[in-house]
Amino acid sequence: DDVVRRLAPETERIGFADVGGLDAVKQQIRRRIITPFQKPSLFERFRRKAGGGILMYGPPGCGKTLLARATAGECGAKFFNIAIEDVLDMWMGESERKLHALFDQARRSAPAVMFFDEIEALGGKREYSREATTSKLVSQFLAELDGFAQNNQGVLILGATNVPWAVDPAFRRPGRFDRVLFVPPPDQTAREDILRGLLKGRPLAAAVDIAGLARSTSAFSGADLRHLVDTAVDEAIDASLAAGDEVALGAEHLKAALSQVKPTTLEW
Ligand code: ATP
Repeated sequence: DDVVRRLAPETERIGFADVGGLDAVKQQIRRRIITPFQKPSLFERFRRKAGGGILMYGPPGCGKTLLARATAGECGAKFFNIAIEDVLDMWMGESERKLHALFDQARRSAPAVMFFDEIEALGGKREYSREATTSKLVSQFLAELDGFAQNNQGVLILGATNVPWAVDPAFRRPGRFDRVLFVPPPDQTAREDILRGLLKGRPLAAAVDIAGLARSTSAFSGADLRHLVDTAVDEAIDASLAAGDEVALGAEHLKAALSQVKPTTLEW
């Protein structure tokens, strides 16, 4: 199947340690998704039904996809990164079939994490939806999610959106995306954490002040910080080429990068 082949699962090697900050979100994912998966008998004893998904929302570039990947890594699960866009098809019934094939493949590959990005594109409130007749697809999605026909054991479901108010309320019922977590822009500590991760293993001048850099990047998303570091690294490479020798990444390169890269979380 076309979409299934294109969306072949990735085997993840990253874990929560690779995600800067977001301690509260990690804790919720651990408690709601990872622990029930690792200790099914405990949950059975307490007659606590495992399952149900988590919906993450927040400004772009702040780690929703990264967290989903890391969740797969933490449980040694296959990772399916699915954009609803890829499922939508102009032919009648074809989107439903693709969606079913994806769930089927994930069930066969269990343990698996299915991550649905831009979940608002699936139905949602009419003014936001891209197709007039997505309601069949929504019902199909809900049926797969509820695991009516097949058991979703070992299939962990995460969703993400930048526009939570556009998500179909039917998705929020118990056993579906019944937990909604805000993935905020990184605070000072998280930015230090992310910057440290991004700068690790590069030739860095001793005088670089990571805490200071974190303070001057207050509305930056994780993706913005990555862009910033990439830009500074390019500056250092250019300087090295000009000098004919390796020039360590220093404050001057970061300063030059800061004048080029602007934060994006303020517009959200
Ligand atoms: P979108 O809504 O645009 O899909 P997202 O919230 O899913 O955004 P990611 O794709 O997870 O964002 O983040 C983009 C990149 O930014 C990541 O691959 C990573 O390099 C960096 N990044 C974002 N947040 C973090 C974080 N908390 N820790 C480390 N890196 C981060």
